[in-house]
Amino acid sequence: MLLRHTTADVMERSALTINPAKTCQPIGAMYAALGVHNCLPHSHGSQGCCSYHRSTLTRHYKEPVMAGTSSFTEGTSVFGGQANLLQAITNMFALYNPDVIAIHTTCLSETIGDDIVQIIAKAREEGKVPAGKHVIHANTPSYVGSHVTGFSNMVKGLVKYFSEATGRKRNQVNIIPGWVEPSDMRELRRISRAMGISPNIFPDTSDVLDAPQTGRHEFYPRGGATVEEIRHSGDSRSTLALGPTASEAAALALEEKCQVRSEVLELPIGLLATDRFINALRHRAGVRVPGLITDERGRLVDMVADMHQYFYRKRVALFGDPDQLVSLAEFLVTLDMRPVYIVTGTPGKRFETRIREVIGDSVPEVQIRQGAQADMFLLHQMIKKEGVDLLIGNTYGKYIARDEDIPFVRFGFPIIDRVGHSYFPSVGYLGAMRLAEKILSVFMDRQDRNAPEESFELTM
Ligand code: SF4
Repeated sequence: MLLRHTTADVMERSALTINPAKTCQPIGAMYAALGVHNCLPHSHGSQGCCSYHRSTLTRHYKEPVMAGTSSFTEGTSVFGGQANLLQAITNMFALYNPDVIAIHTTCLSETIGDDIVQIIAKAREEGKVPAGKHVIHANTPSYVGSHVTGFSNMVKGLVKYFSEATGRKRNQVNIIPGWVEPSDMRELRRISRAMGISPNIFPDTSDVLDAPQTGRHEFYPRGGATVEEIRHSGDSRSTLALGPTASEAAALALEEKCQVRSEVLELPIGLLATDRFINALRHRAGVRVPGLITDERGRLVDMVADMHQYFYRKRVALFGDPDQLVSLAEFLVTLDMRPVYIVTGTPGKRFETRIREVIGDSVPEVQIRQGAQADMFLLHQMIKKEGVDLLIGNTYGKYIARDEDIPFVRFGFPIIDRVGHSYFPSVGYLGAMRLAEKILSVFMDRQDRNAPEESFELTM
């Protein structure tokens, strides 16, 4: 009972967060930068920040995550980090030869007020940026936002630094995938190609954070969107931005900079959100949906129909990132489940409205909480007050699941005590089948565990 002091009485809080349902902005900026080919992320702050960001990504992806740091000391904290950053740029190009250095700021450098645009300009003037190489940046103070807004800021930075309109349109569609796993980015590419679309996906962490074992250490794995590909996003026919919190800002920046028309969709997680994604691709390609995709949908519907009795009216608590939660809540309602508590620490507009749009009036008792005080402590209190049949969220949910003896499905970021999330997609119809299978498995394991011997069934 690690959380035994949690009470069921919810007290309104305004200045205290207990076990936040989010993490730090620079982690998202670092993850987005890893989706660029030959890119070295750089943390402009103290070594401790960088170690935390790298280790969180390494633990989630089970891959070594490389990044530089400006290694702030007491002196830097007083006089600013310009000298350290200029030295770091020189060292990183000399030692690690990246195509791109993607700088993100931290709480400390933002509080000091370091002007990264000016420092990058100075580095260029002083010849510290070799020809054909790039230094870009995003501002990611972690006392605002979350890892998702950090991701969004860096993706917007990619557009601001690289996207160009030459006037010669390319027969391709930009897909800004949102914060999803490398496996999801690969799946989005597969689905798009199956639909006859040439996708320009950025960032793209597939083959970076799920690169195959070859026996050789590759400092820069083969994956990632190249600078050229991101540059060409300005000549694409249109953009599909998946997940408003993570992707809308970049899509709007691209629209403004290069007049590439964009459409913002919810992440294609679950049956209906995937239907909308496929429909959007179909309109862009002007094609009929191929049999391959229709069959995948049919298998998902068949699985749901076969197993419906296990899903029916189950009460679920969810926590995590807004874009995932909206699509997940919709999918649960599709399965006839009842998402009753939905909690995110990530701030942002329209979260509650989006949830209510997708679940309609099917779960009138739903409680939706967002922001600094929407934390794991509050979620635990809600569950203590009135229990649920299932908890879905990242690894940190395991403490609540254990204390309250609730079946638990790991989903979201970070997952640091299991594998699979980076290899098997959650998007598309196949991803929805995997999610449904995970939910079913925990329900059936629970049924087996609780069944008295006379009703311990071989067949479900
Ligand atoms: S919250 Fe701020 S100080 Fe803490 S690790 Fe993140 S950037 Fe660094």
